[in-house]
Amino acid sequence: MIGKKSKIIPDKGGSVLGSITIAWETQFKEGNIMWKVPRLIRLNDNIVVREDETAVFYRDGKVLTYFDQPNRYALTDFNAPVVQGLLKFFTGVQQQAEVYYIQRRYLDGKFGSTEPYQFTDPTFGIVSLKVYGEYRWKISNPENFINQFVGTFNLETTDQVEDRMKDQMVILIYNALGKMKEKGLKVTDIPANLLNIEQVVLAEAPDQFQQYGVEINKISGLNINLPDEVQKAVDKRSEMSVLGVNYLQLQAGKAMVDAAKNPTGVAGAGAGIGIGLGAGAGMGYAMGGQMMGGMSGGLQQQQTKACPKCGAIVPINSTFCPNCGAPLQGAQNQGAIKCPKCGTESPPGTKFCPNCGTSLVPQMTKCPSCGFESPAGTKFCPNCGAKL
Ligand SMILES: [Zn+2]
Ligand SMILES: [Zn+2]
Ligand SMILES: [Zn+2]
Repeated sequence: MIGKKSKIIPDKGGSVLGSITIAWETQFKEGNIMWKVPRLIRLNDNIVVREDETAVFYRDGKVLTYFDQPNRYALTDFNAPVVQGLLKFFTGVQQQAEVYYIQRRYLDGKFGSTEPYQFTDPTFGIVSLKVYGEYRWKISNPENFINQFVGTFNLETTDQVEDRMKDQMVILIYNALGKMKEKGLKVTDIPANLLNIEQVVLAEAPDQFQQYGVEINKISGLNINLPDEVQKAVDKRSEMSVLGVNYLQLQAGKAMVDAAKNPTGVAGAGAGIGIGLGAGAGMGYAMGGQMMGGMSGGLQQQQTKACPKCGAIVPINSTFCPNCGAPLQGAQNQGAIKCPKCGTESPPGTKFCPNCGTSLVPQMTKCPSCGFESPAGTKFCPNCGAKL
């Protein structure tokens, strides 16, 4: 862990007259983003800076200067310009400074919500979401990092830095979700758009992190937990998008099956459809009457993607964002087939999901009575109610 003292530094400060050598020893450096040297550096000390690390000198709430070239610096070496840059602050009684070592390499971290995000959805109302994932980051500007991040949040150890980074990552994702929501993202769009959301988050990252001298290089494994009732609606929608039927047809078909199972009180196919409609309208994630006309399109809107620049939700085959005009990659994904089970996209014509093996070509059965095609295994035609 960080915060361990280098063996070279005596416990009690050391001698002002003798020269002390400060170095970030490998055993303490591994996996640590930062080490605050537990002793002030003074005139006559030596400081060792190695590959991929920066020594930042700090005093009175601000960075004085930093050394980022590997070397062993003697603070008596007035001829070295970089040392002069520090020593000009060593005047009068203030001949000392705090030292932070920081890594310049990329580090991997995880984040997760502690407090849920309240996503207001037009259909479900306020939905509590929790987000989890991984990110890769590095310190891109040592001065901003120590001044604005470490200084502002009063962080002393790697653990504290990582905890604060996690919080900031969650805030970043909540901000991105908020923007995407304004652009039309619905809570039921989330599972199919996780990769898009990752891209939007990454694009938003500089706005939030540049001020802290931090660069976010990658977001991966984003996971957003949905409450059960939302997840059910999402499952239903992907079920329908596989079937190629709309919600009304699906409900009607199910009502047929129910009617067949329970003949009492149901006169026939017509009544069955009536029940289907009623059930659909009464299920909560439905559909006021005004929506019924557009429902089939609305429900199958799974074929959308998010603009990586502005977060607008646009049809999957858009080549340019209608909101901001950004060219949209992913346009080459036109016609891609989305796995109904895991969401992986495969090129057109793929028969089985390369990720989970689910069949991507639903076997269809033709209704002997009306010719309507429904998935194999359907017992009653969703269109006319005939036994298949
Ligand atoms: Zn856009
Ligand atoms: Zn799959
Ligand atoms: Zn039929």
